[in-house]
Amino acid sequence: MTTSLADASGATLIVDLAAIRENYRALRRRLGRAACAAVLKADAYGLGADRIAPVLAAEGCRHFFVAHLEEGIALRPRVPEAAEVFVLHGPMPGCEDIALAHRLTPVLNSLEQVEGWTGLARRLGRALPAVLQLDTGMSRMGLSPAELDRIVDEPRRLDSLDLRLVMSHLACAERQDHPANGTQRLRFDVARRRLPQAPAALANSSGIFLGPDFHYDMARPGAALYGLTPVAGAPNPLRPVVRLQARIVQLRSIAAGDEVGYGLTWRADGPRRIATVAVGYADGFPRSLSNAGIAHFGDAALPIVGAVSMDSLGLDVSALPEGALRPGAMVELIGPHRSVDAIAADAGTIGYEILTRLGRRFRREYRDGQPSPAPSSTLVLEGVPS
Ligand SMILES: *Cc1c(COP(=O)(O)O)cnc(C)c1O
Repeated sequence: MTTSLADASGATLIVDLAAIRENYRALRRRLGRAACAAVLKADAYGLGADRIAPVLAAEGCRHFFVAHLEEGIALRPRVPEAAEVFVLHGPMPGCEDIALAHRLTPVLNSLEQVEGWTGLARRLGRALPAVLQLDTGMSRMGLSPAELDRIVDEPRRLDSLDLRLVMSHLACAERQDHPANGTQRLRFDVARRRLPQAPAALANSSGIFLGPDFHYDMARPGAALYGLTPVAGAPNPLRPVVRLQARIVQLRSIAAGDEVGYGLTWRADGPRRIATVAVGYADGFPRSLSNAGIAHFGDAALPIVGAVSMDSLGLDVSALPEGALRPGAMVELIGPHRSVDAIAADAGTIGYEILTRLGRRFRREYRDGQPSPAPSSTLVLEGVPS
């Protein structure tokens, strides 16, 4: 029976590479002539940049964004020679030569970063590729209007830059009726006219769905590639990418008045059957799902009862016929019955946070096209056995 380590794992995170490919194609269709870059920061939102980058490169993606220099260094060998890897945070002071040595193109966010990069360019006696980010209202990263004024007053500051892209970032793009979207776009247009001619990029995933006015020459989707919903309050047009199946460690019957978990925050109001599942907050499964989340077995919804522990959580499985579950069976924590976005809503956060925190502890399975044969014990997932 149990012959492989796969059967011993507490949980399996399944990443559907074919779905990521489909999502990339869908975004590219929507973008028309604008280039579709890919944002692979935070290890591709926790899903594995080294597995996902080659899939996107094979689709023709030639522009990749990461947040940190180290992420760029790790990604560079995974993408084609001709591809550009952009580092959103830019080089930390003194690290410009490291970026150059790894052929990473920094996003320059401040006058200090512009000076650091052009200083290196002058020492080398040649122009260096760079992206310029403008702050159009988010007050996070990018040149402020005052900094832009100083650049425009002294255009020589940009002399040794090979300006590949001028970009900004939207603060509220998932809310299509938010007035900030239009305001930021106007500010972007005004600022861009003051700079040398260069391709422009404004949209993240949600920005792509604001329409062609927001597409410019390139878009920078991350979340939508990984199946998160791009438009608040609308059906998700993208394919789900992750599933999380967790194993039952133990089953028990409890009586009315018995309590469950740390702090004894849940009390049975009648006889109940409780399953203890091998996933907890140390796996990135939010503790805020205590007494709030839902797992599934087949089509049966199984509420999380009691506090989520570090390595386990409790489910009320009384809805299932006795004997339907046994130790070692898998329940669905993320999957067709419960999307990442739905879990995020239950947990009071956003899908991005759920995805990026999903654990390094899970057994990971990458599927592309035909699902690989499941270990025998996961087959019971497909339906409640009679
Ligand atoms: C993270 C990020 C993106 C990608 O955003 P999504 O909402 O995940 O598509 C794009 N641009 C910048 C500057 C970012 O920081």
